[in-house]
Formats: sequence, C-alpha cells, structure tokens
Amino acid sequence: MFHVKAGWFFDRFPNGSVAIVRRETANENSKIVSEIILSPNEWASVVASVSVHGDFMPYFQQALDFHNVNTWTCPRCGHVNPVEDADGYVNECANCHVPILGTSV
Ligand SMILES: [Zn+2]
Repeated sequence: MFHVKAGWFFDRFPNGSVAIVRRETANENSKIVSEIILSPNEWASVVASVSVHGDFMPYFQQALDFHNVNTWTCPRCGHVNPVEDADGYVNECANCHVPILGTSV
C-alpha cells in the first residue's frame, strides 16, 4: 500500500481496481477511517482528468493503457482472468473463486 501523505493510502488490486484508503495516521496498520474502491476505468478517468490534457479520448485510453488492466493473474492458483466480463468487472478468480476485493472498513 502506497502512502502519499497524512494517512492517505493507495493500493492496486490484481484486476486493476484501485483502493483509496484514509487511515487515522501514516501508519499502514492504523484504523481505516474511509475507503473507496475505483474500477480501472474510473481510475483512468481520474488520472486523465488531472493531467494537462484532461479526461478526453485518446488521453483516457492512454491512461487506461498505462494502467495495463486487460487481465489479472490469481495470486492463489495462477489462473489468468479477464478484468471484465459480460456482467462487469471480475471480482473473483474464475478457477478457484478467491475474492480479490476483500477489503472492508
Ligand atoms: Zn484462482
């Protein structure tokens, strides 16, 4: 988990989703005050929107490509999963069903 400043942390999940976590202190083990999880597309929009170009194509696509989120590899079984399927963002391994968005407040 990456600490920016003042207890604000950023973390990446295997499927490319990004957690933004506010903790009580800069200590990674301190109590979570607030947390939001952004999909890869939402994160790419944030990155593009604060760039000099803004959140417009093709800059959004560049941000998404830089984030590199077409597949993710399960840390438990090694199965390569797509980031997105017909129902939306994949949040568990299709092979062993380990959830990848397991954090909670
Ligand atoms: Zn798995």
